[in-house]
Amino acid sequence: MTAQPKRNSTTEWQAQDRHHIHPFSDNAQLHEIGSRVITKAEGTHLWDSEGNRLLDAFAGLWCVNVGYGRKSIADVAYKQLQELPYYNTFFKTTHPPVAELSKLLVDMTPKQFNNVFYGQSGSDANDTIVRMVRSYWNLKKQPKKKTIISRTNGYHGSTMVAASLGGMNYMHELADLPLPGFVHIRQPYWYGEGGSSTPEEFGKLCAKALEDKILELGAENVAAFIGEPIQGAGGVIIPPMTYWPAIQEICKKYDLLLIADEVICGFGRTGHWFGSEYFGIESDFMTMAKGITSGYMPLSAIMVSDRVADVLNSGIDFSHGYTYSGHPVSCAVAIENIRILREEKLVERVHDETGPYLTKRLWELLDHPLVGEVRNVGLMGGIELVKDKNNRKTFQPVGDTGTICRDHCFRLGLVMRATRDTMLISPSLTWTKGDIDDFMKLTQEALDLTAKDVGL
Ligand SMILES: *Cc1c(COP(=O)(O)O)cnc(C)c1O
Repeated sequence: MTAQPKRNSTTEWQAQDRHHIHPFSDNAQLHEIGSRVITKAEGTHLWDSEGNRLLDAFAGLWCVNVGYGRKSIADVAYKQLQELPYYNTFFKTTHPPVAELSKLLVDMTPKQFNNVFYGQSGSDANDTIVRMVRSYWNLKKQPKKKTIISRTNGYHGSTMVAASLGGMNYMHELADLPLPGFVHIRQPYWYGEGGSSTPEEFGKLCAKALEDKILELGAENVAAFIGEPIQGAGGVIIPPMTYWPAIQEICKKYDLLLIADEVICGFGRTGHWFGSEYFGIESDFMTMAKGITSGYMPLSAIMVSDRVADVLNSGIDFSHGYTYSGHPVSCAVAIENIRILREEKLVERVHDETGPYLTKRLWELLDHPLVGEVRNVGLMGGIELVKDKNNRKTFQPVGDTGTICRDHCFRLGLVMRATRDTMLISPSLTWTKGDIDDFMKLTQEALDLTAKDVGL
């Protein structure tokens, strides 16, 4: 596929874009240097307005699981737009795509899930879950059970509630968050915080922090615990295998609802359909977005367990919903996306072939002077850059080295995001071993250039 450079337009688009407030950006600085204009994508590559081709190791924003340029998805969307572009599901009505998707999701998720609610984004889905959790305990005549516990450095979205659930200090500071009723415990980040403990010990220790917090607050006041099976935006933090079973047990013991935020882990990223399957998590809610449509249309879905649904569906109006809940085009796209994942056996491929191969290749980087730790499950990985790998000593200030490396990647034709000084990998599930080899070659080069820049 040849690129279509539009050289004369780049500066024009950048000028127009000065009116655009970008998410998670220093906009003054961005307007100064000008945004990179992405004009086209195909397979696992992007093209910018200067005609540069980039290997996308981040699948957009963790989401383009089936890769770019899927004509069958475009066709399904086009057909749905002509047949029924929009109708709501508020007034005792439904439509074929939302009905079909609902049954499909119930069939493919763990057995406790027989009910699903729709939104447009992971953030609004997590907001909705908080409303459901509160309704649940109110209906159960335990209205004091309100507080939700989550983790430092967890990410659950950007609305006021989702950012409160999240544990990003820099997001809290922006708007006096968290809201009352949201508290945080430590994250299971063994490399960064585990000290001399084994991963197994550390996993249990971090789970114990949940029990300590519940006892501090009183179990009668605690409604739920939320976590990403693997923290994504926080730096691909993979908890030790002892962590989730212990969390699960504590939630049972103190009667907390358990929410698994599967927005990144879901739809095959870990080599399983859901991160919950990889860790053996049995939750009351699963938040799904991103990979559910591979980003071709906005959609989120919340799986609600029978335990919760039986209470919420007990003769009250659930007075909550969005104009675009169960949008027909988004649902039709999700169905086609899931069909592709299944037909091409992409989840199996990640599990059996490309996931293990990425692990093998990433581990080679441990010889590099900059690389303190590599970690991945399936096609979700991190490369943590440190100043002194023998003592796990980080760079100061944290984040500069990651940015240097990210910029080198861009110049070399590779999109790899950085969180602090960890490089994040989350490519399309269509990646072949050859794509992984290309990726490794560029990464090695970027790491060498970065090492030189920081004097290692
Ligand atoms: C991206 C993300 C969200 C938020 O989803 P949006 O669609 O951006 O609102 C929530 N949870 C996790 C784990 C995410 O990665």
